[in-house]
Amino acid sequence: MPVFRKTLAVITGFYWVLLLYIIAALVWWFISLEEQNKEMTGLRLQLESPSNPHYATLKAEALELQRRNHAQYIGEGTIFLLLIVVGAVFVYRATRRQWQLSQQQQNFMMAVTHELKTPISITKLNLETLSKHRLDSALQEKIIQKTLHETDRLNDLCNNILLASRLEGGKYHLHKEALLLNEIAMQSVHQFSGRLPDRKIMLEADQIVPLTGDPLLIKMLINNLLDNALKYAPKDKPVEVKVFSGKDGAQLWVSDLGPGIPTEEKQLIFEKFYRMGDEQTRSSKGTGLGLYLCSKIAKDHHGNLTVADNLPHGSVFKVVFKK
Ligand code: ADP
Repeated sequence: MPVFRKTLAVITGFYWVLLLYIIAALVWWFISLEEQNKEMTGLRLQLESPSNPHYATLKAEALELQRRNHAQYIGEGTIFLLLIVVGAVFVYRATRRQWQLSQQQQNFMMAVTHELKTPISITKLNLETLSKHRLDSALQEKIIQKTLHETDRLNDLCNNILLASRLEGGKYHLHKEALLLNEIAMQSVHQFSGRLPDRKIMLEADQIVPLTGDPLLIKMLINNLLDNALKYAPKDKPVEVKVFSGKDGAQLWVSDLGPGIPTEEKQLIFEKFYRMGDEQTRSSKGTGLGLYLCSKIAKDHHGNLTVADNLPHGSVFKVVFKK
């Protein structure tokens, strides 16, 4: 078990024990107050002589006081108990969420460091190879293309991180203009096909799919979805991009024949820094920022990003921009 899970388990255990103690103390106070209440009634009655002509009235008053005290203990005790339980659940959930977020942030920092180092090392190695050895032009070209691919990855990563922090800080101002979604999708598909000549990327687009939006962000949205489809689906499987004008508005679908997303993860994957699977065993590269940004970009364009299962397997990410 990773250290943070162990610490979380210890803190959780301590928290629930403390809560149980508080509830048990409340119950104990209730029982002892009830006993005191009964004793007080008994003492009041003992002080009066049964021969007193008002004894019946005094006894009725003493019993009425006991009943009122009982109702007060029950009422106040229940409200206390409810407040404690609701407060405890609220604090528990908020703390747990905060804890998970800080863990995800740590994972994110590790992933970013790795993601930055890998392309830099590969690029350095490739440049050293080119400068030290006289290679034939085909091999030289291959190395140059590989290096360009790595710098593109580095560029995409930096753009994602910068945009996420600017969107978060409210520092990014959208520059919306009339654009054609089909054209931006075509540019992205060309760019990825150039980077990954071995992969099959299909584009099915209507002639004209108008949209009012920020071209930079829309490009980033398509690039992130396409990048994921290519990253998570097997290399020999095609990836498909569809762009069309639906009755609700412009639509963008990116589908793949990868492993798909389990139902219970379908909402979680849009959270910031969230990555499926175990941090220790995961082999795919990434930071957990891509889909969070995509969903934010879609919302900023009055759109909605969802994921559905593809057939026979894989996933379809759908963005519907409302008219
Ligand atoms: P990452 O940098 O990890 O790719 P994303 O926010 O883009 O971050 O995606 C979040 C998680 O959703 C990924 O870690 C991956 O587990 C899952 N995911 C995203 N796209 C796909 C896909 N096309 N097929 C399968 N899983 C996917």
